[in-house]
Parts: sequence; structure tokens; C-alpha cells
Amino acid sequence: MSAGLPYEILEDCPHCLTESAVLCLFDPAHPASTPGTPIDRRCRMCGAHQVLIVDEAGHPNLFSHTPPSDLTSLEAAHFALERWSKEEGEPDVDLFCRANLSGSLPEIVAMLGQRQPIATNFDVIQYLFPATATASNVSKAAEVVPRPPPKLEPTPPIRPEPRTIARLLASVIAADGRIRKDELAYAQKFLRMEGHAELLPSEIRIWRSAELPPPNDREARFRAIQAAIELAHLNGETDESEWNVIHDFARSWGIPEEQMVDWNRTYEKRHASLFKGVLAQLTAMIRLH
Ligand SMILES: [Zn+2]
Repeated sequence: MSAGLPYEILEDCPHCLTESAVLCLFDPAHPASTPGTPIDRRCRMCGAHQVLIVDEAGHPNLFSHTPPSDLTSLEAAHFALERWSKEEGEPDVDLFCRANLSGSLPEIVAMLGQRQPIATNFDVIQYLFPATATASNVSKAAEVVPRPPPKLEPTPPIRPEPRTIARLLASVIAADGRIRKDELAYAQKFLRMEGHAELLPSEIRIWRSAELPPPNDREARFRAIQAAIELAHLNGETDESEWNVIHDFARSWGIPEEQMVDWNRTYEKRHASLFKGVLAQLTAMIRLH
């Protein structure tokens, strides 16, 4: 008799208190599989991850692969939501939160900070689109979803270079005390284009140039400072703390002041007008409603 197909069930997470955030994979063909024990259990919000292993005595055991992240920190909460949203194929994290969780991005971050339970509509989605797989021995059978094949994304070649450029951008992002989605997206895109690995949550803080070896390539130093200046202008206004960070790196990397002024003028014009355009559009929309 066939052991049956693998299937997934959603569970509430006991760590981050998010409803239906935990994906439990059951595979009857797994050597350690017993009814009611998943072979893999992962929370899409806090990242807590357990895998079923067979211990030395031959007993199945759920092994903690990754502990849950502490999402009471603003930074960790933003990263967790970015990751989940991206995993679901939604680049707009705020939209993802509004569509699937019980509030906007800032509301969900605040709820995580206060350790409040977070309702989601993932159960509802499962009911609306019932899967073809069945699991008669499982109490929450209505939440069964077929497991898609793992997505293999082409990875760009990663330079084995020190993380200096990534950390310069991390410093600009962290300088005003808030991690903004558009700033982070800009930094990650720039790093990918330059062949660097993306920023890790643990790297986002204000770094001093003296802490990091300067990039060897002069052109790369210029491109990085230029990107840092554009990053600082993204929301249409720059912060003094952002400028302090950029000047610290630019001085120690030998970027001429005239060049900085020139880039600043370019991005000031471009982003201030973009920002005003968005504001004008928003105002027009508000007037219409
Ligand atoms: Zn969790």
C-alpha cells in the first residue's frame, strides 16, 4: 500500500502568537513519520523551525533547527514581515499585511512589539480554495494545502569582499532611527547589482568608516557613496544624521567635496520633485473622495 502524498497544515505559532503562521509538513513516506507528527514545522513569521530526525536510539524526535526570532524589536519585526511577504510573492509588505494579517505594516509591528496575538486570514484562504489533497487522520483537514515544488532562484555571483559597502548603506538606513521599506529595497537592489550579498538584519546599524576596510576599487567607492546619497534622498528629505554618516565614509575614502555637492544637488532635485508629485497625486485623490 502506498504511504500517501506529503501535505501541509497550518498551525498557530506559540512563540510569536500569529494565527496559522506555522507550516507543518507531513510526509507519510518519511522513515520517522508517525501519525500526527510533522517532519518539518516552520513559522513563516518568527522563523522558528523544527525538523523531524531519528535519534541514535531509533526514535523520531523533533529537532530545533532555528529558534524563534524575538519580534518585539522593531528591526526584527520589519525583517520578518519583509521575508514572509517576499516568500508569498508580494513585494509590497504593507499591502501583504493589510491583505493577510489584521492590520497595516506599522500596526502589525506594534502588535508584535506588545506580544499581542495576530489574526490572519490564511484559514479563510484555505477554505475558499480547497486543495485536492486529503488527510483523513488529521483534525484540521480543511487547512490542507498541496506542497509546491521548491523554487530555485538563480543567485548572482557573490563577491567574497568585506561587507563595507553593504554596511555603509545599512548606516544610512539606520541613521534616522527607522528602517524604511523603500530604503531597504533600494540598498538590496544596489548590492545585488554590484554583486554583493544582501544586507542581513544583524548588519543594520550605524557603522563608522574606521570599523571597516575601505573597498579597494576606487570606482566602487564612488558608486557606493553616490548610492548612499540617493538613498538619503529617497523620501524627499534628508536627515542630518544621514549626512553625518555619508560624510564620515566619503572623507575617509577620498571622495571630493565638490563631487558630493554635485550628487546631492542631482538627487535633491530628482527626489524632491518626485515626492512633491506623489503628494500632489495623494492630495488630488483625497479631494476626489
Ligand atoms: Zn512564530
